Amino acid sequence: MSIQPAQLRKDFPILERQINGHPLAYLDNAATTQKPRPVIESLVHYYETQNANIHRGIHTLAVEATKAYEDVRAKASKHIGATNTEDIVFTRNTTESLNLVARAWGDANLQEDDEIVLSLMEHHSNIVPWQLLAARTGARLRYADIAPNGLLQIDSLRKMIGNRTKLVSITHMSNVLGTINPIAEIAEMTHAVGALLIVDGAQSAPHLPVDVNQLGCDVFAFSAHKMLGPTGVGVLWARPGLLAEMDPFLGGGEMISIVRPEGSTWAEGPHKFEAGTPNIADVIAFGTALDYLHDLGMENVREHEKHITAYAIDALESSGGITVHGPRDIEARGGAVSFEVDGVHPHDVSTIVDAYGIAIRAGHHCAQLLMRYLNVPATNRASFYIYNEEHEVDALLNALEEAKRMFGNVDSRTAV
Ligand code: PLP
Repeated sequence: MSIQPAQLRKDFPILERQINGHPLAYLDNAATTQKPRPVIESLVHYYETQNANIHRGIHTLAVEATKAYEDVRAKASKHIGATNTEDIVFTRNTTESLNLVARAWGDANLQEDDEIVLSLMEHHSNIVPWQLLAARTGARLRYADIAPNGLLQIDSLRKMIGNRTKLVSITHMSNVLGTINPIAEIAEMTHAVGALLIVDGAQSAPHLPVDVNQLGCDVFAFSAHKMLGPTGVGVLWARPGLLAEMDPFLGGGEMISIVRPEGSTWAEGPHKFEAGTPNIADVIAFGTALDYLHDLGMENVREHEKHITAYAIDALESSGGITVHGPRDIEARGGAVSFEVDGVHPHDVSTIVDAYGIAIRAGHHCAQLLMRYLNVPATNRASFYIYNEEHEVDALLNALEEAKRMFGNVDSRTAV
């Protein structure tokens, strides 16, 4: 059944808020999403009835908490079509997942003059860990270009991937342009030279049906907070067998098998990478977020976003004096829509629309390489999720008219 945002909104207490005397229109979902009541209640329920440390105690509470936590590993695995639950590691966020791979796989497998291939549309969390790895190992970084239509230049990427390439790390969906990259095709190129393909799924896992086997990648990383879940929970999936090849990232309790004075051996599977007490309550609440999304159906989530994104792009482009970045083909993009209002700084735009209760993002969106490519210091970004409705886009457009009026940039078609 298709998504009914007006109904869903009742599950999100924060959407009842008034901001500056106006109903909140929350259009900053690429940064983080709001949480439905069942997710919030799941946190309270855990602390009121189940709180115990996991994997260690044999008392009833510890067993219950362990089961609840491990059940979410299975849900996260199912969410991305993974074959084995044991290939899912819980981290703090996408950033930590990528850093984990850079340390645990990168340090052991890269050396001087090897190449790491990224793209110019990457989020800093898919750039900086590789820059640090390059500095540690002497490897070189290469960045694939973007075409004027906002798509990755796939031929330039193909030429870049060669015998020296050891790893390719690419976003599945851009947090600025909305571009969805052809991961299966990139996987073929990457594997043809024996390199590892890492996919930053921070923006795709919340918004699209994802199947890591169809994508053909070796690693896939995403964050719970961008998909109705709490902050502080990330997921790292690695293809079967890969985790076993990797050394630990952090040492401590729970990640060992045997500790002797001269050294230790490691726990098997994901536990090797989950040192110390994990974020138990938030992982369990993330399970509730996954249930919520799967009750809606990820196909339906995607359909709703295509609809509202097309509506927003059309409205922004026809209003005059606004430049929209990123692909126009709705099949090739997700719901992060970056734009500029001619002659008005993005921070001013964001401040003005906030006065109308509308939350959008202004800045470089942790994508300074992309800003340089677009030749802008910053953009505005509206980004959508399951609870957004057309009237919120209309409210944004009205507020943007106000921004244009205030800065003397009124298009003759829209002046009143
Ligand atoms: N990658 C992309 C494409 C993102 O949009 C983000 C967050 O905005 C991240 C990575 C980093 O996610 P987190 O801050 O949850 O680690």
